[in-house]
Amino acid sequence: MMTKDQYIESLRKLNLNLWMFGKKIDNPVDDPVIRPSLNSFAATYALAEDPQYEDLMTATSHLSGKKINRFTNIHQSTDDLIKKVKMQRLLGQKTAACFQRCVGMDAMNALYSSTYELDEACGTSYHQNFLKFLTRVQDEDLAVDGAMTDVKGDRGLAPSKQADPDLFLHVVERTADGVYVTGAKAHQTGYINSHEVLVMPTISMRPGDEDYAISFAVPTDSEGITLIYGRQSCDTRKLEEYNSIDVGNQTYGGHEVLVIFDRVFVPNDRIFLNGEVQFAGMIVERFAGFHRQSYGGCKVGVGDVLIGATAEAVDMAGCAKASHVKDKLIEMTHLNETLYACGIACSSQGAPTKSGAYLIDLLLANVCKQNVTRFPYDIARLAQDLAGGLMVTQPSEADYRNPATHDYIEKYLKGIASVPTEDRMRILRLIENMTMGTAAVGYLPESMHGAGSPQAQRIMISRQSNMAAKRKLARVIAHVDAE
Ligand code: SF4
Ligand code: FE
Repeated sequence: MMTKDQYIESLRKLNLNLWMFGKKIDNPVDDPVIRPSLNSFAATYALAEDPQYEDLMTATSHLSGKKINRFTNIHQSTDDLIKKVKMQRLLGQKTAACFQRCVGMDAMNALYSSTYELDEACGTSYHQNFLKFLTRVQDEDLAVDGAMTDVKGDRGLAPSKQADPDLFLHVVERTADGVYVTGAKAHQTGYINSHEVLVMPTISMRPGDEDYAISFAVPTDSEGITLIYGRQSCDTRKLEEYNSIDVGNQTYGGHEVLVIFDRVFVPNDRIFLNGEVQFAGMIVERFAGFHRQSYGGCKVGVGDVLIGATAEAVDMAGCAKASHVKDKLIEMTHLNETLYACGIACSSQGAPTKSGAYLIDLLLANVCKQNVTRFPYDIARLAQDLAGGLMVTQPSEADYRNPATHDYIEKYLKGIASVPTEDRMRILRLIENMTMGTAAVGYLPESMHGAGSPQAQRIMISRQSNMAAKRKLARVIAHVDAE
């Protein structure tokens, strides 16, 4: 496995065509806006080096028998599925941000079982191609970005019916050696911190969409790929002279980028789906299921930090004993643990696919993510309720450091006498960061839209709900039908 330092050094070798705030970024590794996201990703390597987390952070490869980072593992049991969620909660607790590596893990698990079934049905050899890719990822402990979400243009039209054919990524030329693809993937979490990008179709497809039913992996710095950085609320605070207190979470963060593919070449042995439209839906459903499970871990860990920060804030203000305060902290905990319960439940009810790899219970994974579209908002509302207005009205760190204003801030922003004013300012800014600032992207809108927007889960819940069996139960009990 790679150490954290080896991982960071390996990223320096990438030659990404990255743009941010109107400028080309030649050194993303040391860029102050981007670096916190790298630190979060690097935590997936650092914790795997720590013996106390070995059971959660590492696994044994079913291919090589070697010890691997769990983020490159193909789940072989419900125990693996449960440990995945626990690992994600741990990382959420350690970073209070999106640590990004799950998307690739979920994409690899979706493609492993799907390519197996695809080959069985169509006589193709995509699973062999995928095994070759996976072996390299496991042996070299690579970071993989899973790229699903197309920009989609007119949502009412199929990929091949769009006014601009590039609004869904597609094959533009076929040669004896491979294919050329053009299109764009939006909201790509962790792309800049990844060595490889694993591309999948974004929706179920029909005959006529063959050129759009394409899945493959290429290096993230392949020729023809352009990246445009997604900006976040309060991101430029990281560039200010005093950038410790006001950023809220100085060390960790997350990022998303718009990834543009302009005639990118994909060699044949890196293709995992190529025109078999009937299998696009299986890949989408399995990837989405795995990523909906993931949120029952990562968002819970981030929630742990937010609940802790809120408990600190009320202590510092001297109101920890008020009964409504205690009750709101209980409510936050109840909501957070409900999400965890769903993540564990869909894992423990997982089952093997034809390939032998395990898949989560899809109904429960979708229920998990549906709750994630709601509960973090309630938790954040309660955090803001208890933190009080000072969370957003306190002066800047620059004013706190300025001798002309420091003493006033020190004196008048103090809560209980035993707590330094600076500590209180730091905790309040952390709450601001997680509910309104850079980290809120990962905790709130990502809870809403990541792994699919709420309606996508409702469609899956409806499909998996087995309403006919429920009706039958009622009809038998009411003696409408005989047993
Ligand atoms: Fe992982 Fe959560 Fe970030 Fe998705 S949102 S990549 S599950 S940390
Ligand atoms: Fe996500």
